[in-house]
Amino acid sequence: STPGGPRAREDKIVVTVRLRPLNRREQLAKDQVAWDCIDDYTIVYKPPQHERATQPASFTFDKVFGPASITEAVYEEGVKNVALSALMGINATVFAYGQTSSGKTYTMRGITEKAVNDIYNHIMKNPERNFTIKISGLEIYNENVRDLLNSEPGRSLKLLDDPEKGTVVEKLVEETAKDDKHLRHLISICEAQRQVGETALNDNSSRSHQIIRLTIQSTLREEADCVKSFVATLNFVDLAGSERAAQTHADGTRLKEGCHINLSLMTLTTVIRKLSVGKKSGHIPYRDSKLTRILQHSLGGNARTAIICTLSPALTHVEQSRNTLYFATRAK
Ligand code: ADP
Ligand code: MG
Repeated sequence: STPGGPRAREDKIVVTVRLRPLNRREQLAKDQVAWDCIDDYTIVYKPPQHERATQPASFTFDKVFGPASITEAVYEEGVKNVALSALMGINATVFAYGQTSSGKTYTMRGITEKAVNDIYNHIMKNPERNFTIKISGLEIYNENVRDLLNSEPGRSLKLLDDPEKGTVVEKLVEETAKDDKHLRHLISICEAQRQVGETALNDNSSRSHQIIRLTIQSTLREEADCVKSFVATLNFVDLAGSERAAQTHADGTRLKEGCHINLSLMTLTTVIRKLSVGKKSGHIPYRDSKLTRILQHSLGGNARTAIICTLSPALTHVEQSRNTLYFATRAK
């Protein structure tokens, strides 16, 4: 495996880990903290005294964030360069991966907020360019695609293969943001829509993937020269709980099926693992799930990816935390 530590800015995949604090319920239940971030790149397992360490106890990443870290730091050091590349015409995707209750939604909301700030700062600093920002929001639940900007429930949206654009989501609403305030408002609509589903389907967030997709286009004001125009998509993806990914051994064979496996999540983990291996990995099964079809052009190739793996510190969650770290290790 590759050593941890800071990596080149132009890295295609940046993998970071965020350990949240023990929550109140865990504190009341006298749960123990099982993980420690010993430096900026290393997280270690602290076994209880009676346990003999039989599993790897130390994991290194591009960056690890301890329980006292703020989302701003996670954004600055784990996401910013990836997100801002979308302003230069390079597709980018930011994922939050982790078990239910590990902090995916908490982290992704903060990250999206910081990215919106940064995007509009960049726009202000580059008055010679004309920017257009469009947003769409969607949720994938049970391989059904739901529009988060269309309040009418409706049926699952179809995916179509466009000869030029690749996979497109048919009839997906796309709004043009008038300014940053309007964009924030549209994002809040998507988040509220997802919560409606959550209430109706009893914690649908552990099973569903949410994608907030920004399309950022810019041209130089002076010339109508195509070469000087940029367009790219920037995706913020709050994934289903990782307990729904199939856990596999290093050789790829199935470890166990804890609960109902989520096809999109399982396919995504395979795609990311193959992309991280590089050219020798052969066929990449983008087409096997809705999530990977929708994200195909923002994964691999020239696209840049930031994966934030969120972790519960609790001893009771140690097995899931370890699975998350194995995924994170293979994604590097
Ligand atoms: P998930 O989306 O992975 O299921 P949430 O983002 O909903 O998890 O987080 C679960 C709970 O933990 C929420 O109440 C959230 O506010 C809290 N939480 C998550 N991450 C942090 C953090 N880094 N610092 C403080 N509280 C957090
Ligand atoms: Mg969530």
